[in-house]
Amino acid sequence: MGREDWTSRLVGVSRARDAAWRLLEQGADALRAAVEAVRLLEDDPQFNAGVGSALNRDGFAELDAAVMDGETLGFGAVAAVRDVKNPVLLALEVLNSEHVLLAGEGASRFARERGLPACDPRELVTERQLERWTAARRRALEERSGTVGAVVLDAGGRLAAATSTGGMVDQRVGRVGDTPLPGAGTYAEAGLGAVSATGHGEFLARALASYRAAASLGDRSPQEALRAALDAVGRLGGSGGLILVDARGRVAWAQTTPEMSVAWRTPADEGAQMREGA
Ligand code: ASP
Repeated sequence: MGREDWTSRLVGVSRARDAAWRLLEQGADALRAAVEAVRLLEDDPQFNAGVGSALNRDGFAELDAAVMDGETLGFGAVAAVRDVKNPVLLALEVLNSEHVLLAGEGASRFARERGLPACDPRELVTERQLERWTAARRRALEERSGTVGAVVLDAGGRLAAATSTGGMVDQRVGRVGDTPLPGAGTYAEAGLGAVSATGHGEFLARALASYRAAASLGDRSPQEALRAALDAVGRLGGSGGLILVDARGRVAWAQTTPEMSVAWRTPADEGAQMREGA
């Protein structure tokens, strides 16, 4: 990725952070703020979520997204959805239903029932992802980046996490990664923290990376908790990136993937950063 891309990604994550913060100031809860941040990132074509998602082997985007409310341990997710522009909004609808995860055609039908319009799958395809897809088909391309996530603690002490992805470039049709699995790519629990993950989904899922980070907060600092989770992913042979806010409002992020852009805000400070991984 060139430096210009870094700058515009930082603008993207900062914009999402500011929108979430404004909602919190207006009294919205953590869940609503996390969903709004991820919705904006899905609409930003430079990230691998919503418009601009990685394309699967057939050249379509198949989207996964999840939301979790730390207060109730409510979880809602969708997987392998092809015709929904903002899968994070559909994940929220699933959270507000009797289900935890809906996939494919059934998820699309549920979207219509809940009033989320169908989009033409071609609307999700960008020039950049088409180029990556073509390159991936020529040689096994190992680059994968741009999954989006948000973690929020609100003034009432409520924690929430939201994650959205197009998965991995040239992935098998129907392949689902860590993002929509509770505790793998997305996790929030009152008293602990909220975590969202990016990286190689199969490894993050087997390591239960997000849950592992949140659960190890008790005796570790946020940074150490993330390291412990990424070490577990690494021991399986994978790499990842994690963002976290704990129940005390401490924020942390860590990655073993090549690049990750983050923007954060707390009552004490704010910033945005592009980091190259270890
Ligand atoms: N974690 C996502 C997946 O495996 C991909 C990514 O984060 O880039 O589906």
